[in-house]
Amino acid sequence: MKRAKVEVEGYLHNVSEILEGADHHKYFTALIQEAERNSRVVVFDLQRHNVFRSAEKDRTPVRLCNVDLSPSRQRSGEVDVIMNTASLLRCVRQLNFVFDESSRDVVKDVTVQHILQEGREYQRVNVTIKVLQLAEDRPGVTRSHQKMSRRSYDVADQTRSVSLTVWGGDGLQVGKWYRLTNISIRKFGGCTCLSTTAQSTITIVPDVSCTVAQIMENFDRKEGEIVTADVKVDYLCPRQHPLSSVNLATSLTRCQQCDAFCHTSRVVSVLRGILTIEESSGRMNNFVLDDFLLRKLLNVPSGSTPDPDVLVLRLLGEGSTRLHLKFRGQHVLDVAFVADVNTASSSSVPQSTECSASLSNMSECTATTDDMMLEEFFAEVQTEESANLDVEEKNEGCVEKQEGSNTSEGSVGKLMQERREVVVGVVAECRKGIQKGVKGKSKK
Ligand SMILES: [Zn+2]
Repeated sequence: MKRAKVEVEGYLHNVSEILEGADHHKYFTALIQEAERNSRVVVFDLQRHNVFRSAEKDRTPVRLCNVDLSPSRQRSGEVDVIMNTASLLRCVRQLNFVFDESSRDVVKDVTVQHILQEGREYQRVNVTIKVLQLAEDRPGVTRSHQKMSRRSYDVADQTRSVSLTVWGGDGLQVGKWYRLTNISIRKFGGCTCLSTTAQSTITIVPDVSCTVAQIMENFDRKEGEIVTADVKVDYLCPRQHPLSSVNLATSLTRCQQCDAFCHTSRVVSVLRGILTIEESSGRMNNFVLDDFLLRKLLNVPSGSTPDPDVLVLRLLGEGSTRLHLKFRGQHVLDVAFVADVNTASSSSVPQSTECSASLSNMSECTATTDDMMLEEFFAEVQTEESANLDVEEKNEGCVEKQEGSNTSEGSVGKLMQERREVVVGVVAECRKGIQKGVKGKSKK
């Protein structure tokens, strides 16, 4: 499938600062007001930034030549105009329509109910909500190796509740109302979540209402017997590069990307559990447990490098082992052996009736939202049609950047540099590493 090479004519609005995406891809965005619509423009040729800025300021009619069109992530049914080094910006004498002051990339104020009912994935919205509880506070890592705090909250307005993930920043106060701008809508399975972006602002506001919607469970559950299990291990150097070969018996390990040695004791192992669960109906379901969940399930200390065969034995157990999983789409949020679940109660309560009674169950529910997000990016990138691959990757870069690698602006993003601990949980780079990483100890 060949992408259409086209020209678009119009006036430029909303030329952004230079942004940085994954793999340090830099780009900027703008809006082009065409005769009958407005389109988002993504520009990877940074040398044109000044030209774009001037054209916006002077309201110069322009023609963008040799651009690519790519389906818009943010605006369903529309296309983004992609400009790279082969594209050209020409000033034109005049257009048969005029510069429109009101052509702005308007992000609308919406209610949570609107988001849940009509929100499109990746759409940007403004919303005013009350923070009901902190659901998760776990350091995260973006694809561009940046570590930053990542907190998930259950939030609500008068209409509905939803999960919100905030990247970086100081954290929100439970019980307070906030106005959030430029928040991105994400979807996992049938579950809708919100996530901050690099352009998001978070402002505390006076209480809007004394009543808000109750917290609703925002994930699916399954329970069944483990019928197959496998555990894989990937290794990372202390700088998070995937290692192609590790001999744990030797004291030093060479990392090709660092082009240097490190102590093998500093090599981080990332576990992955692959399970088939048989429900009582006989239906089989496959799940992948990330490092965090597998270690939690089997009580494996973070940082240790266990024998995967031993873990498999523990998963399969002596006789039959039953597992209870909470998940969104393909992504497992929490897992426990059924005995544990029963003591914690409520495994068979229908979803929508579990509200405030299920607060303890909610504690992990958004734990991996952003891992999922990052993971999903890989999946998306990998499954893109080849013809769209380069453009989509660039878009991923934009989105990824927006989803959390901003270090400079806004109330979000100040603390991220302070997170320096090695994060053993699932990091995006580990995922990438899985493609080429070593398979741990092989099984007989
Ligand atoms: Zn390295």
